[in-house]
Amino acid sequence: MIRKQVGKEPGKSYLENMSKSADNPRTIIHTDMDAFYASVELLDNPDLRGKPVVVGGLSNRSVVSAASYEARKFGIHSAMPTSTARGLCPHAVFMPVRMGRYREISERIMAIFHRYTPLVEPISLDEAFLDVTGSARLFGNGPDIAAVIRETIKSETGLTASAGVASSKLLAKIASDLHKPDGLTVVDPGREKEFLADLPIDRLWGVGKTTIKSLRMLSVGTIGDLTRLPLELLASKYGKHGVHLYYAARGLDKRPVTPVREAKSIGHEDTFREDLQDLKMIKKELLDLAGRVGARLRRHEQEGKTVSLKVKFNDFSTNSRSKTLLEATADSMEIYRHSLELLAKTGADRTPVRLLGISISNLDNARDGRQPDLFGVCRSREKKKKLSLAVDRLNRKFGSMVVKPGRLIDND
Ligand SMILES: [Mg+2]
Repeated sequence: MIRKQVGKEPGKSYLENMSKSADNPRTIIHTDMDAFYASVELLDNPDLRGKPVVVGGLSNRSVVSAASYEARKFGIHSAMPTSTARGLCPHAVFMPVRMGRYREISERIMAIFHRYTPLVEPISLDEAFLDVTGSARLFGNGPDIAAVIRETIKSETGLTASAGVASSKLLAKIASDLHKPDGLTVVDPGREKEFLADLPIDRLWGVGKTTIKSLRMLSVGTIGDLTRLPLELLASKYGKHGVHLYYAARGLDKRPVTPVREAKSIGHEDTFREDLQDLKMIKKELLDLAGRVGARLRRHEQEGKTVSLKVKFNDFSTNSRSKTLLEATADSMEIYRHSLELLAKTGADRTPVRLLGISISNLDNARDGRQPDLFGVCRSREKKKKLSLAVDRLNRKFGSMVVKPGRLIDND
């Protein structure tokens, strides 16, 4: 499957975190589903068990997203061109990506993680860091929790996960990969350096082929070898990346597990008893929808950056458009304005409309502070927000749509 690059260009705070050893010992679990997309396909198509299965784009110009372990025996791996994979194993079963299904199972897996700690940082659909330091009293030590999580995933989804348990993200991630598939690897506290010493350098995050080649010239093959190079040398040769390598090789990594709010959306859609033909009517419905979506966002104290519009036509075709704003919003009129822009791209003026939907995603908690240097902007935004909240209160008190934006009333 496509892996997200975790070891991206390190920033300053990143390096600060890398260079310190943890003040308090932490217990971090990294879990990673085994050949996730391919395993889901095997789960849903049991006849394919034991056969090489490749998930990805089916045209020869596309790439492999995931390969079952049987397919990997032929040298097929993710990110490989599909044409190459077909050459390596012509009798493999090639299947299209079903992202909706993977997402559905991913949600179930993430929910299992949340039973053991609120500190869950998803890295991709099938991978996450969990800080379980504070969970010991309730659920036992790190290895116990990792074992229970793996069992639970297996019994509730039928899929296997591998896990690594260690005192940092860096080590937990390396550990989870060591005994794949269906493996559990524990790095005991105090034995981090020992654990790393004999591993080849490509086990470290963000060590690409070029760096490996260049390090080989310095007779560095293992992570242990890497600890023999002084910081100055690594820094002058590889810049920030070299500094990262210096600390990583020593197992130093204090980066916290940062929980990300689930990528949810708040929205509303309406199916009309009679198809809407008139653009004026469509706009009126859109205004009404935007009002309800805005109110719902404000009720949940949420703001969102991405506005999506869904239009279903009377021939049952659907056109969805979305745009991402610079700043998150919960303002109904703003949502309406952007929806209108999106509407212009859907062809709603030419075909009768059956259904309209607006949703806001990329959500953020509205209570989080804003930057003070945007003072002017904030003040007008604050004003609007207060006004919207007052309108919401009135509508709650006196029934759904007592207070409507002026334009909506004009059209009545
Ligand atoms: Mg995986």
